[in-house]
Amino acid sequence: MHVLVIGGGMAGLSAAVVLRKSMPDLHITLAEPKAYIEIPWAAIRALFDRAVADANLMDLAAWATKHGVTHVRSTILSLSLVSAKLATGETIPFDVCLVATGARTKIPALGRELVGEGTLSERREMHVREGKQLLEASSVLIIGGGAIGTELAGDLAAYAKQQDKNVAITLVHAGEHLVPELNPAGAAKVKTKLEKLGVRVVLNERAVEENGAWTLGKSGERLEAERVLEAVGIQPSTAFFKQGLLAACLDEAGWVKVDDYFRVHASDGKIFAVGDCCTALTNTAPNAFNNKKVVAGNIISTLKAIEEKEPLDALNAKMKRKRPAPSVFVVTTGPKSGVARTAIGNDYVLLPALKNKTMLTFKAKSEIGV
Ligand SMILES: Cc1cc2nc3c(=O)[nH]c(=O)nc-3n(C[C@H](O)[C@H](O)[C@H](O)COP(=O)(O)OP(=O)(O)OC[C@H]3O[C@@H](n4cnc5c(N)ncnc54)[C@H](O)[C@@H]3O)c2cc1C
Repeated sequence: MHVLVIGGGMAGLSAAVVLRKSMPDLHITLAEPKAYIEIPWAAIRALFDRAVADANLMDLAAWATKHGVTHVRSTILSLSLVSAKLATGETIPFDVCLVATGARTKIPALGRELVGEGTLSERREMHVREGKQLLEASSVLIIGGGAIGTELAGDLAAYAKQQDKNVAITLVHAGEHLVPELNPAGAAKVKTKLEKLGVRVVLNERAVEENGAWTLGKSGERLEAERVLEAVGIQPSTAFFKQGLLAACLDEAGWVKVDDYFRVHASDGKIFAVGDCCTALTNTAPNAFNNKKVVAGNIISTLKAIEEKEPLDALNAKMKRKRPAPSVFVVTTGPKSGVARTAIGNDYVLLPALKNKTMLTFKAKSEIGV
């Protein structure tokens, strides 16, 4: 039996490791154009801290050898119910496919897009170059005060201060408070911490561009913006569904529609999707990791049914449902502070310190088997 995993990010790799452990003889192919593994949430700190940049990039070929997975270094261009077509022109047939292609931000420095040939050294050079350019800018406008925009503003301000650089940072957010995942008290603390670092935070406003100049939508105030980072409008990496006959699997915004068992809508039960690319849960790493066993278990039930020629639509009784991860969310405001939301209230000390000290890369590495 053959499982094709599309996308070598946190969700795809962690599920592949469970599949391998559960079925030692299973043929697993991973389609991923990059030659490296990157932990996305550490990519912001990696722009400014070389040690984090080094720890954050890992060789994908070594991972594939360790876990007995065939790594095909290519992008999937189209998908059918039985095979996937690669950018190389090759077609890969499968019994079951797991789509884990994630989502892209509009900020190239965060590296969700393919850079050059997709080598580890190209990505490392990009970290260094982009971080340096941001620190040399006279003004940086960050649009969107979600977790990504907020962490970027905090890190840029803190490292600029540390290196005596004079960067005027403006963070514009359309909502009433920063980081929607936090409660109002936690978000207010984040705002105060950013302002202490010298970031100008503008709430309830939108940044609007006209002929290359940026202004605030309501007040019309002109914004200084030598560099603009758009931390809004995250897009799913799912265009390949539209090239095959599976466009109906996507919702209007392009996210993959899945049921409670991670089975893709209208895919005859043979295609699964997990992680940021799909509609199952909110886009967080804990949600991806918390469901690696669920999705791998459901794929194994499907493979057994295919082998025993059982109808796949009668499988529900053997399937496990998606499980939202426990409610913890940590946002850093530079390398020395942050705010965490936990089930028992806000934490301004322990979890932010743990994230800042480790970037939680140890957790990712243990989940994906590095
Ligand atoms: C800057 C940033 C900060 C974040 N901060 C946090 C945080 O603080 N806390 C938190 O919980 N979560 C955070 N997240 C979200 C978290 O990283 C994701 O939820 C998690 O990594 C989901 O992983 P994934 O496998 O779905 O996607 P990804 O890890 O993005 O992996 C997708 C992979 O698919 C590959 N791919 C895409 N298209 C194709 C194709 N057509 N063919 C083959 N391969 C393809 C890509 O190259 C990529 O390697 C952050 C994300 C970013 C980008």
